[in-house]
Amino acid sequence: MPAGKALTEYHRKRDFDSTPEPAGGGGRDPDGEPRFVVQIHDASTTHFDFRLEVDGVLRSWAVPKGPSGEPHDKRLAVPTEDHPLEYADFEGVIGQGEYGGGTVIVWDTGTFRPLTDGPFATALAHGHASFRLNGTKLRGGYALTRTRPAGADGRGETWLLVKKADRYASARSTTDPRRARSARSGRTLRQVAAAAASPGGR
Ligand code: MN
Repeated sequence: MPAGKALTEYHRKRDFDSTPEPAGGGGRDPDGEPRFVVQIHDASTTHFDFRLEVDGVLRSWAVPKGPSGEPHDKRLAVPTEDHPLEYADFEGVIGQGEYGGGTVIVWDTGTFRPLTDGPFATALAHGHASFRLNGTKLRGGYALTRTRPAGADGRGETWLLVKKADRYASARSTTDPRRARSARSGRTLRQVAAAAASPGGR
């Protein structure tokens, strides 16, 4: 995706006078490793959003059941529009009636190291990319693999997110999004929603 066009869809879908989400435009730490974030998004359906920093944006997939630490679990990952880097810090409530209305928490965040031979973006373009996560919850190797290309209308593309069999693999697989706590604030979805609803809350 050409630079500068990457966030067009993100901006088109949102009204930044209404949504608390970041409009983007900031830079990244040039010395740091690229970031990843996994958010839990309590929208019309509760899902996980998996995002990897690639070439100045957060490439994004909605993962309905969330990442698994169990290498036999193949988790459906549906690509969504690129998000700005600042989105990795976003936790709060998107108003009902806004695009993606509902509560968001940062379930996990950290850095990742590409395990691809060439550029990570090229590997993604070819439909398969491995990487090593260094988060507070998720660690070790994972792979994203495209299993179905987009149709003529640009929709219907699917990927799988799978844990590699390494020393960080575990039998712990499914995270209950209702009980999960933010890696940033320790709060649950319910607590973030309650804080936003209280006077002066956010
Ligand atoms: Mn989402």
